[in-house]
Amino acid sequence: MNGDPLESYRRKRDFSRTPEPQDSRPLQSSSNPIFVIQKHAARTLHYDLRLEIDGVLKSWAVPKGPSTDPKDKRLAVPTEDHPLEYATFEGVIPEKQYGAGPVIVWDIGTYRNITEKSGKPIPAGEAVALGHISFYLEGKKLNGGYALRRFKTGDDEAWLLIKMADEYADPNRDPVREEPQSVLSGRTIEQVAEEES
Ligand code: MN
Repeated sequence: MNGDPLESYRRKRDFSRTPEPQDSRPLQSSSNPIFVIQKHAARTLHYDLRLEIDGVLKSWAVPKGPSTDPKDKRLAVPTEDHPLEYATFEGVIPEKQYGAGPVIVWDIGTYRNITEKSGKPIPAGEAVALGHISFYLEGKKLNGGYALRRFKTGDDEAWLLIKMADEYADPNRDPVREEPQSVLSGRTIEQVAEEES
């Protein structure tokens, strides 16, 4: 890890205007890392998938959200690392601020890094640097194996999020459409936008 991974997060935000959290914890890796998926109606609606890795939340914006169908390949565009405190953030980022719009916690839980290369386990940070991480989610909506794989590098770096074929794979489920509420407050993103604007 080079320098301060949260420098970009801080630089993009004015904490006197946005209700988003500032980072306050020292960076350290955890044996029981968390994941979160936040539904975010910014200029365009997307789902921010965040995995706790080496003390920060590594983040990807997934325009269509996650699928439970292994046949779906969902585009995932990397965004700046977020502080761990962000995992439970729900609210409205005010107009003119970076990412303006409502945010809900669409799913949250813990995950296990299951990335292997030639039969050897690969640490999560290294897996992301190599462009391929496999992980097992234990969330309230999503469970089981998923893989994130980089297919484009450079300024337009892009990844794919794919459900692994396991007991939790279900092509008939559509959690993005069928389960729109926050797992923390039960509210929809429209309710958060109304109540907190
Ligand atoms: Mn976002």
